This record gives sequence, structure tokens and C-alpha cells, in this order.
Amino acid sequence: MEHITSTPTVKTPAERFTGDVYLNLIEAPAAPAHLAVGHVRFTPGARTNWHSHANGQTLHITDGVGLVGTREGHVVRASAGETIKCPPGEEHWHGATDTTFMAHIAIVVGDSGGDGTTWLEPVTDEQYESALGATS
Ligand code: MN
Repeated sequence: MEHITSTPTVKTPAERFTGDVYLNLIEAPAAPAHLAVGHVRFTPGARTNWHSHANGQTLHITDGVGLVGTREGHVVRASAGETIKCPPGEEHWHGATDTTFMAHIAIVVGDSGGDGTTWLEPVTDEQYESALGATS
């Protein structure tokens, strides 16, 4: 077995995230499974850009309260212990609320080209504020 006692915490790139978001990569995509797993921590107000995952994504909230939104305006508000499954190709975003931190384990299966994520434009303040007002 291999015992990894710590992984580096890296700030996620501003061209893909709004606000301060930190990633610990647990599993990088590699053959044969191309499984990618990360522990991602969002500060209040922080969120991903719009994006989609070729093979879908599982998000397991480990701390705080988060939001996951879709283009159709469906917004899920999820707390620690809850899991959200995003289907393949569905454009969405995830992030903290404006008053709470949120951390999740993000799980995707990629392919030989990487983790299969297609990154799009930022979630605007208007879109984010609208999501804060929605419930699910
Ligand atoms: Mn996602």
C-alpha cells in the first residue's frame, strides 16, 4: 500500500473560478480508470465557472452549505453529508453560499485526454444572487 500523509493545497485558477477556492487533489486521472477526485474548499461567495463533465460528476459535501445550479435555473442547496450527481454533459456550476464556507469531494471519470471537464464562462453576480434566492 501507499500512505500519502498530505497533498498540497493549491488555489484554483481565476479563469475557472470566482472568489477564493482551494483544491487538494486526491486522485489525478490516469489509466485504466481515469478517475479524478479532489477535495475542494470554497470561501463565502466563491463558485466555479459554468462547466460540464463528459462522464458526469458526483459531488459529496463535506462541510458547510453549497449551491449547485443548472442552465434551466434549477438550484440545489446542499449541506454536509449530502451528495449531488450531475449527469454527463449538463452545464452547471457549484459553490458556497454568500455567508458560508462549503467543501466537497468532487469525483469524475475522465479519459485519456484528462478529466473530461469543459470549462465555460463565469457565473455572473446576477446569476449567483438569483441562485441564492432559489431553494430546492
Ligand atoms: Mn462540476
